[in-house]
Amino acid sequence: MPELPEVQTVLGTLERQIHMARIKAIDIRYPKIIDCDPDLFISTLVGQEFCEFKRRGKYLLFEMNDVTLVVHLRMEGKFFITDDERPLSRHDHVIFYLNDGRQLRYNDTRKFGRMELIEKEKEYLDFKGLGPEPFDERFNVKYCKKYLNKRKKMIKEVLLDQRFVAGIGNIYADEILFAIKVDPRTPCFRLTDRDILNMIKETRNIFHLAIRKGGTTIRSYTSSLGVTGRFQLSLRVHDQNRCPVCDSKIRKIKVDGRGTYFCEKCQKKKYLKIAVTGTIGSGKSEVCNYLRNKGYDVFDCDEENRKLLEKGEEGYLKIREVFPDCFEKEILDKKKLAAKVFADENDKKKLEEIMHPLILKRLNERKDDPLFAEVPLLFEAGWDKYFDHNILVVTDEKILLKRLVARGMNKKDGKRRLASQMPVTEKIKRADKIIYNNGSLEELYHLIEETLKELL
Ligand SMILES: [Zn+2]
Repeated sequence: MPELPEVQTVLGTLERQIHMARIKAIDIRYPKIIDCDPDLFISTLVGQEFCEFKRRGKYLLFEMNDVTLVVHLRMEGKFFITDDERPLSRHDHVIFYLNDGRQLRYNDTRKFGRMELIEKEKEYLDFKGLGPEPFDERFNVKYCKKYLNKRKKMIKEVLLDQRFVAGIGNIYADEILFAIKVDPRTPCFRLTDRDILNMIKETRNIFHLAIRKGGTTIRSYTSSLGVTGRFQLSLRVHDQNRCPVCDSKIRKIKVDGRGTYFCEKCQKKKYLKIAVTGTIGSGKSEVCNYLRNKGYDVFDCDEENRKLLEKGEEGYLKIREVFPDCFEKEILDKKKLAAKVFADENDKKKLEEIMHPLILKRLNERKDDPLFAEVPLLFEAGWDKYFDHNILVVTDEKILLKRLVARGMNKKDGKRRLASQMPVTEKIKRADKIIYNNGSLEELYHLIEETLKELL
């Protein structure tokens, strides 16, 4: 199927050949190509000149003297300019006889192409519900972000949707995603600002290059007069065997029914990371256990922290360098370390500088999608920025205190413990999703399911 660069090439070639040529007569051999009454089509166009050549998405717009002729080439549509002598092919469906003796022939082996007449000077901006052109300044980060942020469809599917951006077809969608190193199956809302910026830049780069080279010529498509494009030699991933970057075998899959080529090694899937947080006793562990039972991977920050402090582990070794006085022989005295950092803000910072990058590294090594993480002090540590979403589990203070007492804590310590954390009103302000856990487990599970429906 011709894409934007091919359509642009056809348009440019035709403009050079038939600019201001006048239509003397028209022969319609396959009327279904014409979207209006064929007699009206002929009577309107005869005597008109090809004044201007425009494009919107993959539509060719021929501005005549009084009307605009719109052509969509679809799968196999082609134009040929010939003299009278060349015999007609059975795939020549519409013949425009020009006043200089030449013929403009519309040839279409699959007969999917369409022609129609529209009012001249029509505003093309909203033409056929098409989105902005790739080179249009309306195709910018703000527009793309707004469009993509709320969509869960795969990015390849949306790149092909002419309502999002006009002119991108199957071949170039693969090339664009390869250039920005994004897996074609990535849900739109997971693209980062950087991905979006790159996508806009690469779309323009690739189209610019393709137009300069005259469009690609995959399958039987040739631009007008048999002018063949040369860009197919420059395709990097579509219909290729090996990745030009890493030499891995290119994978071919179907996305929304379209053959899709990508390099699994270079085009990373975007992993969704969701943090679960809440005050002590709020029930965040119940939430995480429920998620584990459902089969999701849940990263436990406290558990990872504990593992990193085991003898000989990375955390243990670094802490021994910075806090040697917390070691008795080869054993880390965790209570001593805790007391030390609780008493001194500076020591606390030093410890965080050791442990946070180590825990983050382990988090980023997990390849589950989605990946949940139980992060008790998510907001206090400023870790919400590392996650795509966060879920805050909130419980009324009275119920919290009861739970803490049931765990063997006395009421006074419980209150002090709760007061030492960021106030829940502050946390609520920073939360993406809130689960209120004041009722039964059944109610909690129901609320978790509702939240998952919104997030995944
Ligand atoms: Zn590769």
